[in-house]
Amino acid sequence: MASNSTKPGPGRIRCALALVAVIAAGTSCGAGEETHAWRAPDVLLISVDTVRADHLTTYGYARETTPRIAELARDSMVFERAYAPTPHTLPSHGSLFTGRYPISHGLVKRGTVLSPDVPTLAELLSAHGYHTAGFVNAYFLSPEFGFSRGFEHYDFAHDIDAFRDADATNADILSWISGIEEEPLFLFAHFFDPHSDWDHLPYEAPADFSDRFVGDPPDSFRAGNGEVWASMYLALLNREKIPVSAAARRHLADLYDAGLAYTDDRVGMLLEALESRGRLERTIIILTSDHGEEFQDHGRMLHTQNYEELMRVPLFVSLPEMRGRAGPSCRGREEGVSVQPGRALGLVQHVDFLPTLAECIGFPAPERVQGTSFLSAVFGGATKREAVYFDTVGNSQRGILRADGWKLIEWRRPSKKRLYHLETDPAEQQDRSTRHPELVATLTAQLEAHLAEVGAADGAADEISVPEHVHQALEALGYVRDEAED
Ligand SMILES: [Zn+2]
Repeated sequence: MASNSTKPGPGRIRCALALVAVIAAGTSCGAGEETHAWRAPDVLLISVDTVRADHLTTYGYARETTPRIAELARDSMVFERAYAPTPHTLPSHGSLFTGRYPISHGLVKRGTVLSPDVPTLAELLSAHGYHTAGFVNAYFLSPEFGFSRGFEHYDFAHDIDAFRDADATNADILSWISGIEEEPLFLFAHFFDPHSDWDHLPYEAPADFSDRFVGDPPDSFRAGNGEVWASMYLALLNREKIPVSAAARRHLADLYDAGLAYTDDRVGMLLEALESRGRLERTIIILTSDHGEEFQDHGRMLHTQNYEELMRVPLFVSLPEMRGRAGPSCRGREEGVSVQPGRALGLVQHVDFLPTLAECIGFPAPERVQGTSFLSAVFGGATKREAVYFDTVGNSQRGILRADGWKLIEWRRPSKKRLYHLETDPAEQQDRSTRHPELVATLTAQLEAHLAEVGAADGAADEISVPEHVHQALEALGYVRDEAED
């Protein structure tokens, strides 16, 4: 693990930072006491890699995988229909940080670098007075790709052979924050633990979690037996198109659930520790994921397609007011107005995060941002989206889901289309494309119009060469080079 600070760290002069923050808040420095009711809130953005929404307790999963996150959800606006734009780590986080779709920001394959002309969420918050820190645990969030821009402190754990687990991540965050008093603070915490692994079993978790969720493997289960292991096993099933038994699929899901439960516990511990240090008093907490995971729900493993198990991710937004703290946390909102936790049913997507935070904190979203603020939905109103869009950026699928529940997935090579109605068929088992050709044509036209509107990949500046040992390690992790299974 290594740290990479792109700017002078937390030791900056507090008054200088306060000056920027106070200017952003529209008053004058040196006053010491805040005369306005509104003060810029802290923002804690938690991205837990590889979390399919339907395996979370909060979204109705039958097993109690995520009781600690459910506690946060009770004090949050829970988004029932939050969608990643792509099932891959690099482009999905790219959308989270730029407000653009993958084909526009251009971080679509290993080695692409974000153009310095595309502002990131961290840069924007930094420019508006925020102290910024990121703790990340995936090669695809490397500073080399541009993700560290705007972070004063970017702690990138880049040992590809031994990723930093949630316990170590928490320890590093808490150690760092103990020396920090400045506010407002934007803290980005990324956890990699639910992702598939490269040693032994396809998904690993500490024994107290695997004991609770995982039984003996069925006879048909071949991973981790010394011949083929971990993610390589899952990639092999994809490559050779080998179907596994229902019992083996269940066993894989059990292993995954154990990792999810471990991460849930540690996210709970982090929130508890930050709370006890007084760091959540004025903090907007956002929890989401970059994509889900599939267990041959639709014929494949890992995360390579546009079905619900890959695209629908958790999203909770907890304003301090929802946890009984004084508000308003968003600029321009009335003081003392109660803001209730709840469930939001409208569609939202990762490109919407940047404009939502911009609206809350009170700065304009930059040009070329393609998302729409969902802040009104955080406050109990409606979302504005009529559709969300998907793209596997590297292999063959793209798709559209409309607010009325109709979803089209289009394969480019070979060309085919599948139409699903999620309200009546949430598991996407019944293709209705032959019964509704006019709807297929309408959705195809909407998808084409979207692609034309978001435009070409002008967000990528450069391409770097990824070292061979990193390629090899990524392949051991199940990433097949020509399929962008990232
Ligand atoms: Zn990921």
